[in-house]
Amino acid sequence: MKIVVLKFGGTSVGTIEKIKNVAKIISNYKKRRYEVIVVSSAMSGVTNELINKSNKISKNFSETEYDVIVSSGEQVACSLIAGRLIDKGFKSRSWLSWQIPIITKGPHKNSRISQINKSKIIKYLKEGGIPIIAGFQGVNNESRITTIGRGGSDASAIMIAKFFKAERCIIYTDVEGVFTTDPNKLKKANKIKVISYEEMLEMASLGAKVMQPVSIQDARLNRIDIEVKSSFIKKPGTLITKRSNIINNKIVTGISSTQNDSKVSLIGVKDKPGVAASIFKPLSKNLINVDMVVQNISANGKETDLTFTIKTEDLNKTKKIIELNRNIRFRKLLLKKDVSKISIIGVGMITTPGVTFRMFQTLANKKINIQVISTSEIKISVLIDKKDTKKALIALHKEFKLDNKE
Ligand code: ASP
Ligand code: MG
Repeated sequence: MKIVVLKFGGTSVGTIEKIKNVAKIISNYKKRRYEVIVVSSAMSGVTNELINKSNKISKNFSETEYDVIVSSGEQVACSLIAGRLIDKGFKSRSWLSWQIPIITKGPHKNSRISQINKSKIIKYLKEGGIPIIAGFQGVNNESRITTIGRGGSDASAIMIAKFFKAERCIIYTDVEGVFTTDPNKLKKANKIKVISYEEMLEMASLGAKVMQPVSIQDARLNRIDIEVKSSFIKKPGTLITKRSNIINNKIVTGISSTQNDSKVSLIGVKDKPGVAASIFKPLSKNLINVDMVVQNISANGKETDLTFTIKTEDLNKTKKIIELNRNIRFRKLLLKKDVSKISIIGVGMITTPGVTFRMFQTLANKKINIQVISTSEIKISVLIDKKDTKKALIALHKEFKLDNKE
């Protein structure tokens, strides 16, 4: 059986007209003799509305009932898609998670798919049917409805592709694919043809808008090729695949930038074991996400400086926590808003010397000051003033030959 999984996101099924268009896309695959399994999200905006309703009933709305109400949007979308296909003469029906079943483990609101029973769907495919499966939902071993986290229908599609050994998993969305950088920030951004799972994960700030990061991790672990493409424009999208499938690696595949970051520096911290842990423990307890961290070499062996970045919305809370922390001593606390992290990402860096230098030189030529640097095997990040973000993006995008030729 040549199985293809087609997943449609909220905007792709956002209106009746769009659902009719989705039915057309599905029927084209069917005509090309694929066995088609469809996974749908709820019509855009619906899940949020349902959450609002639950909040109006109770500030502590029951978690088990939360899963029942928020998963209902998918039921509507699946029924409409199946209904349209039936109207066009195809054999189709909606499948809710408990009818298959798709078994999940873990807490309500944030379960994970652990098992999918294939027999009913395989039988249905053999009879020529097109199953339209509700994404985002599952059922646990107590027969309660569960959901797998916001944006979870991507993960549903990936796990269905895994269990059914699908040849391909296509994620239909409202963008044309993954871009070298955010096309809203840079006109010269290019659509990436092929990208590795690892790069895609590193590009979370770009990628998250395209696909839920957890689902990319699921695809990576299960070696499932994903194609991301637009349901509105007929053009090839972006293939997300394993590194060894990618020939002709560019040195840099994409560039990401953050917004609303702040920098925190502790000057003259006593240099002794356990200091860093004492600083970060209360932050993590308060769910403050620390991103870049650098500690200077202590010049006199007694004191050091420590700098890290956080989201600006956490700045006041962070300041208070540090000032109240009796386990650390420091001379000065410096806080700076309006910084931005620019990262260049690419597996090609591993084998190409001099990438770091090229990045720094490019920024230096534009007189952009680098405040903090951090690197991993396939990523180099620098912290700069927010006002320089656009200038840096333009320069780096050009330097690493990512500019659109059009
Ligand atoms: N409808 C769900 C949500 O809005 C799942 C999804 O869109 O993937 O989070
Ligand atoms: Mg969605």
